[in-house]
Amino acid sequence: MATDLENLYRDALVWDAHAGVFPSPQVDLNLLDEWQQQGASYVSINVGFDVMDWQETLATLAAYRRWVLDHGDRFVLAGNTADIDRAGIENKLALSFDIEGMNALNGDINMISLYHALGVRQMLLAYNLNNAAAGGCHDSDSGLTDFGRAVVQEMNRVGMIVDCSHAAYTTTLEIIDESTSPVVFSHSNPCAIWDHQRNIRDEQIQACAATGGVIGLNGMGIFLGDNDISIDTMVKHVLYVSELVGTQHIGFGFDYSPDIDVDIGVILRSRPDYWPAGQQYDTKEIKHAGPAQLPALVDRLADSGFDDSAIRGFLGENFRRVADSAWNG
Ligand SMILES: [Zn+2]
Repeated sequence: MATDLENLYRDALVWDAHAGVFPSPQVDLNLLDEWQQQGASYVSINVGFDVMDWQETLATLAAYRRWVLDHGDRFVLAGNTADIDRAGIENKLALSFDIEGMNALNGDINMISLYHALGVRQMLLAYNLNNAAAGGCHDSDSGLTDFGRAVVQEMNRVGMIVDCSHAAYTTTLEIIDESTSPVVFSHSNPCAIWDHQRNIRDEQIQACAATGGVIGLNGMGIFLGDNDISIDTMVKHVLYVSELVGTQHIGFGFDYSPDIDVDIGVILRSRPDYWPAGQQYDTKEIKHAGPAQLPALVDRLADSGFDDSAIRGFLGENFRRVADSAWNG
């Protein structure tokens, strides 16, 4: 890596819009050190998803929140982008929490402002299967329900990023239509490069970009290609989205976990309803790109002709723009 690029990477805001750490009160969050070692400024950590019930989500959030607050020498629980700037100056890793799906609400809209008060800043409406709010990407595309519309409105009101990852095609277009703040696909790749039900079509990318939103590149090998995490392949995805909607609408949401004790294959095979057959979830030794790949990616993106401002956008400024609007109003 050339010195000027090294300097750019060191100084840049580096934003990972979604980590793939399996949520549980038992997780040792010292694993977050890896993000800081790889130069990240901010990461969003998942405290629940629809495979868990709401009590487990709340217990996970309680444990993570307590741990982060107890480790204020290394971490900042960020409520807004000013907190992320402060963390950078103090050489700490900023983080906030996200939730994947609606089980965490237990059917109650009032839970959204409670989660917000506890540090949740991003939530997606369906996790692979249909639920009370929205249609999932591995299910019949049931659309956004009246409850789902109320959820989007409440998320806009309290200041949470509306996340369309894991939802179905028509449903995402309805979510995008309902939201008054920019929306994201925090960890979804373009179908045009690798056709997978978890990936998204051009119309979804264009509708998201039209809100001022951002698509985060997912680092999971089965969403990038045939269990392929090569820099070549990742650059193809970035190039495609950038040619379709412009460089201001791409970032990273690696969905990555350094937790080597968790065998992702065992988890995925345990619930064939949420992770159905025929979608490569049974791939042996699923590979996963994460923040460790960022320096090589930055190198190749610069070689591909992207200027410093575009690269800073990919690394974090694009997601920051969404957060500035969605969190801070
Ligand atoms: Zn996910």
